Amino acid sequence: MSNEIRIRKPLGGYLIIGGRRPAVVQTMCNTHTSDVEASVAQCLRLADAGAELIRLTVPTRAEVRALAEIRARLAAQGCNVPLVADVHFTSDIAIEAAQVVEKVRINPGNFHPDFEKAREQLARLVEVCRKHETALRIGLNHGSLGKRITDLYGNTPVGMKEAAMEWLRMCRDLDFGQVVVSLKASNTLVMLEAYRLLAAAMEQEDFHFPLHLGVTEAGNGESGRIKSCVAISTLLEEGLGDTIRVSLTEDPAAELPVARYLSQRYSGTLSAASSLTQCYSDTLTAAPDPALAFGDYSAEQVRLMLDAACDYGKKLFDKEIDEPVLHCPGQSEAFCAHLADELMQACRRRFYKSEYIACPGCGRTMYNLEKTFNEVQRRTAHLKGYVIAVMGCIVNGPGEMADADWGYVGEGNGKVSLYQGKTPLRRHIPESEAIDLLLQLIHESEQQG
Ligand code: SF4
Repeated sequence: MSNEIRIRKPLGGYLIIGGRRPAVVQTMCNTHTSDVEASVAQCLRLADAGAELIRLTVPTRAEVRALAEIRARLAAQGCNVPLVADVHFTSDIAIEAAQVVEKVRINPGNFHPDFEKAREQLARLVEVCRKHETALRIGLNHGSLGKRITDLYGNTPVGMKEAAMEWLRMCRDLDFGQVVVSLKASNTLVMLEAYRLLAAAMEQEDFHFPLHLGVTEAGNGESGRIKSCVAISTLLEEGLGDTIRVSLTEDPAAELPVARYLSQRYSGTLSAASSLTQCYSDTLTAAPDPALAFGDYSAEQVRLMLDAACDYGKKLFDKEIDEPVLHCPGQSEAFCAHLADELMQACRRRFYKSEYIACPGCGRTMYNLEKTFNEVQRRTAHLKGYVIAVMGCIVNGPGEMADADWGYVGEGNGKVSLYQGKTPLRRHIPESEAIDLLLQLIHESEQQG
């Protein structure tokens, strides 16, 4: 099995992932897939912004039908970007989606818990993929590994690697090589270890499927960007990674310039790379991508953040240095100090604030996730030492928030569930009361504890 796959493009040609090419930049729609108009409009906007691959959530058959229409309308408008169906729970939906779009992402943790039955499900899916020239992503996430694996290995990087290897061996035995694999986690140390273990295991068994890299539920703003960049850049620096998604709880178009930066930097095609790789001790000699700007930060400031994340990430993870020493020309001391704090937290060396995790949202999200996440961060800014999660849906949210201390999980219909660890403390809370109640629960727990 080679470290290269070809994804059919809808209007002809192929998108090649792997084989030492620059990492392919991808993102995911946060529209409801069944809203065909909104999804087509967002896909066109994301394609214009540089997405090379666009994923949409497909929870039911209704979304498979919508996806077929989205596929047709995009092609009619000349959009040649391949689409990926994100399927979580049933192999039957994956099989239908594989006949409609160019790639399907499955989460093995949600396939049949019995290994032999899961193998049969995969064999049926692979048969359809082969017939329609559809690629697959084996997309494992820390937090949704499935009971059999967690009983054997715990919810650990080893468990993630073992689960991935089981499925990759099945693909190999089926002689199906159009497969990408991902092992995402919101905890950067877990994510790094899982990918490193998987790369070593594939090497040992002499098959090499391309890697899709990402830090899941990375959050937003500077923390989300820096968390993604320290982890993804560490792996790219080690020669691992063939396609990237930078997950942000923001407009998905905001993910693309960050992912593009990483892809260009590690393929040697970044503008002004010679001076900017040491930007914190030098000045910018070329204007950075204007699309990097967000919030109150200019494109130059974001470029400095990303440069510093890439320059210092691996050194901090591998404990080659204790603290980053930042001198950002033209920036205030406060900017440099804040950047250093963010780097230390992203690499899990020192926590200066609570750790926030939030999914990017998708077609399953039934509330204003971005606004709520900002509000939760604002209202809990005085707290330290917690992991606080804000998740878009009750279907995948509780599992995916892995090691959160507190969780705010949207149920739909204006209702929210509040979690302490894995335990739902309150269900069906109106959105308007949920943040107050979350703060009250945290306060009560501190009083008791
Ligand atoms: S947890 Fe978030 S990104 Fe994942 S399926 Fe639910 S809404 Fe979508």
